[in-house]
Formats: sequence, structure tokens, C-alpha cells
Amino acid sequence: MKQVVELLRTHAIQPSAQRVAVANYVLVTKEHPTAEQVFHAVTATFPTLSRATVYNTLHLFVKKGLLKQFALTEGVLVFDPHVEPHHHFVDDETGAIVDIPWDRIRVEGADDLPGIDVRDFQVVVRGKRQRRRTTNKAT
Ligand SMILES: [Zn+2]
Repeated sequence: MKQVVELLRTHAIQPSAQRVAVANYVLVTKEHPTAEQVFHAVTATFPTLSRATVYNTLHLFVKKGLLKQFALTEGVLVFDPHVEPHHHFVDDETGAIVDIPWDRIRVEGADDLPGIDVRDFQVVVRGKRQRRRTTNKAT
């Protein structure tokens, strides 16, 4: 809680009770929630929070560099508290979005395209997890 307040202050964000409530969920989660998911998670413990406040707070956090916002599935905008460069895996079966460490995938040339001031890039891997084969112990 105290760390979150400090984090907001160092990003020039006034740590109001509402913002701290949103930050306590969205800056700590390992998920990649949508704004609606953030709204439901935060109002479970802070029921007086309005949808508009949650949405405005999320956009403020993005503007101040505390969160990243992107669409990996068509029409679904998600928030990511992990703002360091990393890639993503989108599970076709569950829709889950999972982080892939930056060094795990090598990309060459994406930040050196003629005529483009590259701000950001990432690899999005889509597919399904392989079923772990059970070893047949029957003898
Ligand atoms: Zn991520």
C-alpha cells in the first residue's frame, strides 16, 4: 500500500483513495485485465468507485507510464503493469495472455525501419498449449 502511494507520487500522480484502490489491483496483477475486469476487481473491495473514475484512472496511469495499453485480441483493449519490453502469448483455447521474456525471442531490424520513428514493438505468439503426454506405466 505504502509502496503504491510512493509509486504514484514519483509519477506525479496525486494518490487519492480511489487511485490507490485502482493501483493496488492493476499495478500488481500478473494478468492483462480489460478496463471492465479492473472495474469489477476494484469495486469488490471499493464499491463506491464509479466506472468513470476507474476508466479515467487507468488512462492517467497509461499517460504517466505506469501501465501499457494494447489490443491483442480484436476489439479487446487490455492493460499491462509490466511496462518493460516483453512479448506475449495468447492462448487460443482460453484467451489468456501470458508474458514471454524479451530475451526468449530474437527480433532483428524492427527498431531500424527507414522512415519510421519506432516507439514500441513486440511479438505476439498465438496458439494452444501442448498437452503433456502421460507416460504409459502399464507393464
Ligand atoms: Zn505483458
